[in-house]
Amino acid sequence: NKITIAIDGFSSTGKSTVAKQLAKALGYVYVDSGAMYRAVTFYAMENGLINDDDFNSEALIYQLQDINISFKFNANLGFAEVYLNEVNIEKQIRTLEVSSFVSQVAAISEVRQKLVEQQQKMGKNKGVVMDGRDIGTIVFPDAELKLFMTASAETRAERRYQELIERGDKVEYNAVLNNVQERDYIDSNRKDSPLVKAKDAIEIDNSNLTLEEQFNKILQLAKM
Ligand code: C5P
Repeated sequence: NKITIAIDGFSSTGKSTVAKQLAKALGYVYVDSGAMYRAVTFYAMENGLINDDDFNSEALIYQLQDINISFKFNANLGFAEVYLNEVNIEKQIRTLEVSSFVSQVAAISEVRQKLVEQQQKMGKNKGVVMDGRDIGTIVFPDAELKLFMTASAETRAERRYQELIERGDKVEYNAVLNNVQERDYIDSNRKDSPLVKAKDAIEIDNSNLTLEEQFNKILQLAKM
């Protein structure tokens, strides 16, 4: 019997890594809900709605109907890449620039409403592993397995920094650390669907776990 697995937590806690592994092992669909918020942010940047620190949220709300987000499975990568209006934007949404605006975009109720609705549709047949900030609380409050991932801010910033460097982005460690802390703050303090651990979520601190240790622990939980 297929179940729904919700994985929430702070930025760069390794949610997507474990979610992908889990989906593969169980033959489930993996959905990266953060990619959807990043896609909306990328749209806003491309359409001149974000200039320096000024961000036209009203125009973005108005244009939400023009934003079509979809996922297409890439067999070489082993997961589904995100598309904005039929254009693959998987790489463009991972920059520090998108990261620096995404939490502001994700704080807009109209944006959340649109994306949550789409996420619920994607999960209606179960057999889904979805990661994000509000999956166990808002998107799938009835998920059979809920995980809440944590790790120290430094551990997380170090991981994100390595990822950006590996892609060839020129970034400073401190800028990455600041971004991780700033997003955690905005995500935890916004009015609509703030990041909180669901009451029935199992907390996993992976600061000192190897990927393998973490995966084995979670796979066991998924099979219970
Ligand atoms: O998971 P990721 O770090 O890619 O998410 C980017 C941002 O999108 C988060 O910092 C958060 O502001 C927002 N987000 C959210 N709800 C989700 C997933 C992501 O608000 N379910």
